[in-house]
Amino acid sequence: MSRTASPVAGDDPRRRIPRTDALLALEEVERAKQRLGEERVRDVVRDVQSRARAGEVVPEEVEGAVIAALESVHACTFTPVLNATGVIVHTNLGRAPLSPQAIDALEAAAGYVDVEFDLATGLRGKRGVSTREALLKACPAAQDALAVNNGAAALSLIATALAGPGSGKRREIVLSRGEMIEIGAGFRLTELIESTGPVIHEVGTTNRTHLADYEKALGESTAALLKIHASNYVIKGFTSAVGIAELADLAHAHDLPLIVDIGSGLFSPEPLLPDEPTLTEALEQGADLVLASGDKLVGGPQAGLILGKKEWVERVARHPLARAMRADKLLLAALEATVAGPTPPVLEALHTEPAALKTRTEKLARAIHERVNVMCEVVPHDGRVGGGGGAEVPIPGWALRVPEHLASELRALERPIIATTRDGACLIDVRCIPEFEDDELASAIAALMKR
Ligand SMILES: *Cc1c(COP(=O)(O)O)cnc(C)c1O
Repeated sequence: MSRTASPVAGDDPRRRIPRTDALLALEEVERAKQRLGEERVRDVVRDVQSRARAGEVVPEEVEGAVIAALESVHACTFTPVLNATGVIVHTNLGRAPLSPQAIDALEAAAGYVDVEFDLATGLRGKRGVSTREALLKACPAAQDALAVNNGAAALSLIATALAGPGSGKRREIVLSRGEMIEIGAGFRLTELIESTGPVIHEVGTTNRTHLADYEKALGESTAALLKIHASNYVIKGFTSAVGIAELADLAHAHDLPLIVDIGSGLFSPEPLLPDEPTLTEALEQGADLVLASGDKLVGGPQAGLILGKKEWVERVARHPLARAMRADKLLLAALEATVAGPTPPVLEALHTEPAALKTRTEKLARAIHERVNVMCEVVPHDGRVGGGGGAEVPIPGWALRVPEHLASELRALERPIIATTRDGACLIDVRCIPEFEDDELASAIAALMKR
């Protein structure tokens, strides 16, 4: 190959791409190094240089491109996205987005804090007191409360404390066959429960379980009765299940506790989700221990909430395994801020009026029209609770209908927009996107449509 044909020869613009050392010495880049560490910054620099070599960035703009790219780099490699799916508790997108109050609390708890320290006496204090108080205030039907790592931890801790090794011959937990749930990625609650020693005593059939089925199962080996909310499916047709109140009466007549796993963690009834159980109702109906996830409809951080009668919560909290599932200071802080604070984003998203969503989506369509002179259709689009809540319940709303190929291009943006595709179109649902993002959303979509 002759010299002039070499890819970097002569007056090739690639010769003008700034060198790594020069870029690393820029003041803004120096500052980014403090924040992100040298390695991450070098990666960004190399990435922009190679984009310049590929002709995607002109050499004169490499400095600016490096600085701009560094601004959007976070110290962790998670990529913040806009959730345009209409699925509120989207498991793959991190479930509940935190409220501003919870984010503030995370920052406050990030350094040294009095999580287990009594400022008045200077002695060791009780851990998580204020979070417990916030939970009890939000759910006065509970006598006591404990927060652990997540819902699965809450369930396995309760099962182990009540029916695990050390419970003598009482090792059986009675559960209806209609409530033997797999909650995703092959994760079965019954396998979790049995993993530490308790035995599931199955009763009834998939579609019908009667009080007599539970009665027959009770004996000297019974440790507890368990009711699990079928959070991601519904059993329809010829069905029958026993309610919490009846089960509680039966359990108490035999001096046994009733455990109820409600899944999503509503504190009080939600008119849009009439079949979703609540912590308060479950306790009022006689459950001894109720558990739920903190990052489903509670709208907080990943957490497992255990609420109930004092003696049972204490027994669970005293179990050695509780230490292995202990909530960290960040969880405690964000959970307290969520529970004690205003309506969290997940419930805001749930409650947004369809008419308001329609108006917003039409405005978005007009904003795109102004930019590219194409009018996108606004079509009805049902949102979902997702994340194992409100199974099969549509949440009426609207979506912007754009060409299908945009779905992957929207995902490839610096701040990815995650939309759904259906019937040959890409649907953009603004339910879970904060309204102040609408302008940027319009620009991003318009820019892709112009291509
Ligand atoms: C989601 C869910 C769990 C598990 O909770 P995580 O917080 O995901 O660990 C347990 N039980 C039910 C009924 C659920 O819906």
